[in-house]
Amino acid sequence: KKRVIVKIGSSSLTNGKGELSKIKLLEHTGAIAQLIKLDYEVILVSSGAVAAGFSDLGYPIRPITLAGKQAAAAVGQGLLVQAYTEAFKEHQIVTAQLLLTRDVFVSEEQYGNAYSTLKELLKRSVLPIINENDSVAIDELTFGDNDMLSALVGGLTRADFLIILTDINGFYDKNPHVNPSANRYDYLPTITDSLIEQADVVSNSKLGTGGMKSKLLAAKTALSLGVNTFVGSGSGENKLVEILNGNGDGTYIGEK
Ligand code: ADP
Repeated sequence: KKRVIVKIGSSSLTNGKGELSKIKLLEHTGAIAQLIKLDYEVILVSSGAVAAGFSDLGYPIRPITLAGKQAAAAVGQGLLVQAYTEAFKEHQIVTAQLLLTRDVFVSEEQYGNAYSTLKELLKRSVLPIINENDSVAIDELTFGDNDMLSALVGGLTRADFLIILTDINGFYDKNPHVNPSANRYDYLPTITDSLIEQADVVSNSKLGTGGMKSKLLAAKTALSLGVNTFVGSGSGENKLVEILNGNGDGTYIGEK
């Protein structure tokens, strides 16, 4: 079976107010369910805990302090996974939650445990939903928005492919929100330092955190671990199938 990691960023899960968008979530779950029906093994790495939690916590807008974000993530993580669990139930797919921190990838014991757990879940056709443990770790909230985590999970599980879904259809030679004449790269065999310089850290949406730079750094890590990567968007429930068939709206990185 082919194993695919799907990473969904905050900007692909939120509405204009920065809250969790059920409509967007349902499109993603439909697309993932389709892959599972086609016999792919899927692991979902999803952001969105802060978005799902801040309004119940009584914040009028998405918090900007670290303590505010961590509290909102603590409220929102359960709500996020509940929303996914209910949506996947409609497709007869059982979900599991794993909250990881960077420590998992440096401790041999934790690494081994995470691998065994994921292997067993996939064997039983359960969909693992991974997020960083935001209330104790700050990597996602300060730099990266789970991009690097998704690459490391790809390496951990020896995945065949990593799909990083975001609000823009790929990597451009300049930030297209600032330079309308920017051109998209359809395919990149490797990630060089000069390419990384073309990616901005600032994200347009203000909801996302690492911008395109963290995605390229993640793709570079994924490549070094033998995992080819796609960065882009797409719409409708066919989008993930199209990406895996080579017809995705975005940038393919690695072997063709
Ligand atoms: P997510 O929330 O999905 O992780 P981000 O908002 O953090 O996504 O990152 C995507 C954003 O990165 C794009 O919307 C765009 O504004 C910005 N960006 C910066 N540089 C580039 C570039 N060279 N090509 C494409 N997007 C870029």
